[in-house]
Amino acid sequence: MPDDRPLIYARHLVKRYGSAVAVDGIDLNVGRGQAFGFLGPNGAGKSTTMRMIGCVSRPSDGELSVLGLDTATQGPAIRARLGVVPQEDTLDTEITLFENLVIYARYFGIKYKVAKERARELLDFVKLSDRADVKVEELSGGMKRRLTIARALVNEPDIIMLDEPTTGLDPQARHLVWERLFRLKQRGITIILTTHYMDEAEQLCDRLVIMDAGRIAAEGSPRELIDAHVTREVVELRFEGRHTDELSDIADKLDGIDAQVEALPDRILLYANDGDAAMSEVHGRAITPSSLLARRATLEDVFLRLTGRSLIE
Ligand code: ADP
Repeated sequence: MPDDRPLIYARHLVKRYGSAVAVDGIDLNVGRGQAFGFLGPNGAGKSTTMRMIGCVSRPSDGELSVLGLDTATQGPAIRARLGVVPQEDTLDTEITLFENLVIYARYFGIKYKVAKERARELLDFVKLSDRADVKVEELSGGMKRRLTIARALVNEPDIIMLDEPTTGLDPQARHLVWERLFRLKQRGITIILTTHYMDEAEQLCDRLVIMDAGRIAAEGSPRELIDAHVTREVVELRFEGRHTDELSDIADKLDGIDAQVEALPDRILLYANDGDAAMSEVHGRAITPSSLLARRATLEDVFLRLTGRSLIE
């Protein structure tokens, strides 16, 4: 296989469960050292795609290679070079952090002495050295997540794959995880992650695909996606106590202003290059929302524009 082939390469990748299609013919190209994200709502097909890349689920159709190896025939060789952080922590809670890492390293056939050294280094990397000899059951959710990341690094993988890495964590714990993942990226490790949080995708991903109903709705860097699909600014109008129908009527009154108008069940969005000017136009039409604010466009807006739905429903 030629060396210039991307680290992860998929063409018309499909996964069916009976008559249901979980992944519906996607193409992927992930380069070495990238942080690559799958962003989409629940059920979009993100985890299914990850499982196929991780060689624990077989594609129903299409082509998929990872690290230049064919997933259909070289699963064990690929898996040996991946680090996997599953959605649910699967740590052994009754033994210490240090023991968790050493035992996991031993599964990879790493010698005991090397395993111990690596466990120490990795605990240091995820800032858990001071808890090396504590049982895992005593850790907070964020600490468990960092330990799971350390465990995924035990075999010195080329690619680390994380399924919803910060779901369920509080903001401070999320930032700590993001910061460690950023360090990994700096070390040249390729990061693949799924998320339904647009801020996580914006923070971490060099490139991402937006998935919806098993397909790729759009692909690019966060900046490129925003530039291609939405305006620079978004004005949000909220109307307390108004029904969806009333919001549509209000949206009609905004016809012809210098912005694209989108009426949602709970608010109206104006996609505008100049948020202040759009706000003046709202005032000019004698519309008085209970709140009116202009903000920067986000990936959430991109998703909404592409699918007509919110990422988290
Ligand atoms: P996401 O990770 O984006 O939330 P998933 O990949 O988990 O989405 O699921 C995509 C679709 O495939 C969903 O409709 C889900 O119900 C279905 N699915 C996932 N795994 C299985 C399975 N083992 N058997 C049957 N259907 C599945």
